Amino acid sequence: MTATDGRARSGVIDTPRGQIRTPAFMPVGTAATVKAMMPESVAATGADILLGNTYHLMLRPTAERIAALGGLHKFMNWSGPILTDSGGFQVMSLAELRKLTEEGVTFRSHIDGSRHMLSPERSMEIQTLLGSDIVMCFDECPALPADRDRIAESMRLSMRWAERSKEAFGDRPGHALFGIQQGGLDEDLRGESAEALQAIGFDGYAVGGLAVGEGQAAMFGCLDYAPQMLPADKPRYLMGVGKPDDIVGAVARGIDMMDCVLPSRSGRTGQAWTRRGQVNIKNARHADDPRPLDEHCTCPACRNYSRAYLHHVFRSGEIISSMLLTWHNLHYYQELMAGMRAAIAQGRFAAFEATFHAQRAEGDIAPL
Ligand SMILES: [Zn+2]
Repeated sequence: MTATDGRARSGVIDTPRGQIRTPAFMPVGTAATVKAMMPESVAATGADILLGNTYHLMLRPTAERIAALGGLHKFMNWSGPILTDSGGFQVMSLAELRKLTEEGVTFRSHIDGSRHMLSPERSMEIQTLLGSDIVMCFDECPALPADRDRIAESMRLSMRWAERSKEAFGDRPGHALFGIQQGGLDEDLRGESAEALQAIGFDGYAVGGLAVGEGQAAMFGCLDYAPQMLPADKPRYLMGVGKPDDIVGAVARGIDMMDCVLPSRSGRTGQAWTRRGQVNIKNARHADDPRPLDEHCTCPACRNYSRAYLHHVFRSGEIISSMLLTWHNLHYYQELMAGMRAAIAQGRFAAFEATFHAQRAEGDIAPL
């Protein structure tokens, strides 16, 4: 950690594959690709680290095949750090015919119906085969709202799985293992989970089980206490978040790392994120507009193309539409992170936050 401003923190995580500047946003490369982007383009947006999905990769092309081909970095041509999730969350959200036991989860693939099993040991094995730099513990994440007993039971199972994950991960210099705090929106359960994880000991700690439908106010309410329960000298990762204002609010509450499919997914559905909020490029108001999406943005979509062009290629279903809007969105997200890192380092994070919200409140530029 190199600087703090209020609860916001900035710093650098050193890995053998390069530095991760925090607060960091990790683009999601679900199937060994950040959709519509070349890896060098993702790097050009300022991303230091990507996220890969264990669940997707274990089903197709399989972790064993990726390992035989030299590991995930070589396979997808990304030389920087990669964090992989444990597969737990996506088994719960995507797979069919799940059966949860103390041992782990058996399920059918959403792709071809084949049977698979994930456990702490199997998740560690897959993430090791992939060559992941930051490995996540295998956990269970109940959908919210759920009653307290269900959340407590699930959290305690995840803590037993965290211990098994640590045991299975073993001693792997140059690779990190992160524990995942659970406990829903219950402060006592979050505290119990944080204590259990610290007793095991991890290289970093994630706040899990949020951004699952509870809403921003409830999430921020939990982030007012949950990150503070985790060690101050280790990275804190908020999984699956989020919209730009979620990210700024999370950083303000002491989060260092985040990931979300939103900027890339939005790019494929004609949604752009800018300093002035969200722009829907498919709206007819852009059809004759020669101005860039954001005149201050230095990404290729804004430097070289008009709103009229972006509107046209989206309406025409052209592939370049996804490429340009995804690039812009990832660029915007990374600029937001860079802005926060600079503001924290200079002790002006509160002013940064105020400007961020004021610009968004103005809304998009007026139509011509
Ligand atoms: Zn741009």
